[in-house]
Amino acid sequence: MLDFDVVVVGGGFAGMVIAERFTADAKCSVLVVERRNHLGGNAFDYQDDHGVLVHKYGPHYFRTNSQSVLDYLGRFADWIPTEYRILSYAEGDLWPFPINLNTFEKLIGRSSDTEEMERTLARWRVHVETPRNSEEVIVSKIGWRLYRMFFEEYTRKQWNRHPRDLDPSVCARIPIRTNRDDRYLEDKHQVMPAGGYHAVFQNILAASRGVKVMLSTDFREIRPQLRYRWLVYTGPIDEFYDFRFGRLPYRSLRFEHQSYEGAELAARAPVSGKPGFWQPVVQINYPGSEPYTRTVEIKHVTGQDCPNTTVVREYPADQGDPFYPLPTPDSRKLYHRYRALADREPNTSFIGRLATYRYYNMDQVVAMALAEYRRLMERGVLSPG
Ligand code: FAD
Ligand code: UDP
Repeated sequence: MLDFDVVVVGGGFAGMVIAERFTADAKCSVLVVERRNHLGGNAFDYQDDHGVLVHKYGPHYFRTNSQSVLDYLGRFADWIPTEYRILSYAEGDLWPFPINLNTFEKLIGRSSDTEEMERTLARWRVHVETPRNSEEVIVSKIGWRLYRMFFEEYTRKQWNRHPRDLDPSVCARIPIRTNRDDRYLEDKHQVMPAGGYHAVFQNILAASRGVKVMLSTDFREIRPQLRYRWLVYTGPIDEFYDFRFGRLPYRSLRFEHQSYEGAELAARAPVSGKPGFWQPVVQINYPGSEPYTRTVEIKHVTGQDCPNTTVVREYPADQGDPFYPLPTPDSRKLYHRYRALADREPNTSFIGRLATYRYYNMDQVVAMALAEYRRLMERGVLSPG
C-alpha cells in the first residue's frame, strides 16, 4: 500500500501548484502521479537536437491580469516581460493580426486613422443582438469580408466544425482593435519564464519538500494500491468515470518540426529581419486552405541565445493528446452529466483544464489550484494528523 495524505493525479500546473501548497504550506505527505515521462503537463519545454528550447505541446505564451498569480509564480522563476506579435498569411500576403489599424490601412491601401476605421467597421458589421456562436461574434464586430479572410477557414480547420457551430467564446478570444496596438494578447502582464517552463516545474518540485513523484505511471493502474485522505484529480473527467456516458470530444494537434542552422539560416535574415531567425515573428497564422493553422518559432519569445532555430508547424487532428475541449452545446451537456457525478465524489477535487473540460489558460489554472487549496484548508478537510 502507498499511503499519503494527498494523491495528485497529473503533474501540470494544476497538479504541481496544489502539490506544492499541500507540502510546503500544510506539511502534508503528497504523491504526484504523472503518466507522461516528465512534469509540466502541456507547458513542458525542452532543448531539441539543435539546442533550441522548444515547447513540446504547442506555444505557451504566459499572460495574466492577476498580480497574485504572478507573485506566486515569481517564487519559482524570473518572469521576463515580452510581447507576442504574430502575422496572418491571407490572400498571398502577411497581415498584421489581430486586426488593428495597421491591418485596416493595408486593406484599403492608404494611411488612415482610428475614427475612419471605426466608421468603416460600423458600416461593415452585421447587427446581432446577442451573438450565439463564433461566426456571429465576429461578423457583429467586423463584418463578412474580414471574417472570411481571417476567421472562417482557420476556425473550421482548427476545430473541424464551422464557427457557426462553436460557442462564441472560441473566436471572442481574439481582440479587434482600432488603434495600432498589434500585440496578440490583451492581458496586463505578458511574461515568459527566464529559464523555460521545465525550470519552473523543477523549482516548484524543489519547494515541495518531501513530495513523491511517480512519472510514467497511470493513476488507473496503481489506484488499487493507493490510500489517501484526499485525491486531487487533474486528468480527463470522462476517463475518471471509465467513459460511462461516452467520450467527451477533444481536438488535438500534430506537430512538424523543422530546424535551420548555418548558411541556410544566415541567408534567411532578409526575410525574418533578424539574424538567427527564420520568420519575422513568433507565430504566423494560416487562415487559408493550407492543411496547417500556424507556424511557430518560439525562440522569438524564450529569450534563448542560440545560433540555430526551430519552426514548428501545427496540423489540427482528431486523434492524439486531448488538447482542446470542444465548446459546443452537446459536449457541455455531456460534461455536465460527468460533473454531477464529480460533485458527489467523496474526498476528491477535480481541477485543471481536463477535469473541468474548459479551455483555460495557464494563469487561470494556477488560480484555480490556489483557490481549491484555500477552500480545502478553510473546510479543514486536511488538517495534519
Ligand atoms: P495539463 O497541462 O494537461 O496537465 C495534466 C496532466 O495530467 C498531464 O500531464 C497528463 O499526462 C496527466 N494525466 C492525465 N490523466 C492521468 C492519469 N490517469 N494518470 C497520470 N497522469 C495523468 N495557456 C496559456 O496560458 N497560454 C498559451 O499560449 C497556451 N497555449 C496552449 C497551446 C496548446 C496547443 C494547448 C493544448 C494549450 C495551451 N494553453 C495555453 C493551455 C495550457 O496548456 C493549460 O492551461 C495548462 O497546461 C493546464 O494545466 P493542467 O494542469 O490543468 O493540465
Ligand atoms: N482564430 C481564427 N483565426 C486566427 C486565430 C484564431 O479564426 O488567425 C480563432 C480560432 O477558432 C481559434 C480561436 O480563434 O481556435 C482562439 O485562437 P487562439 O490563438 O487564442 O488559440 P490557441 O492559441 O488557444 O490555440
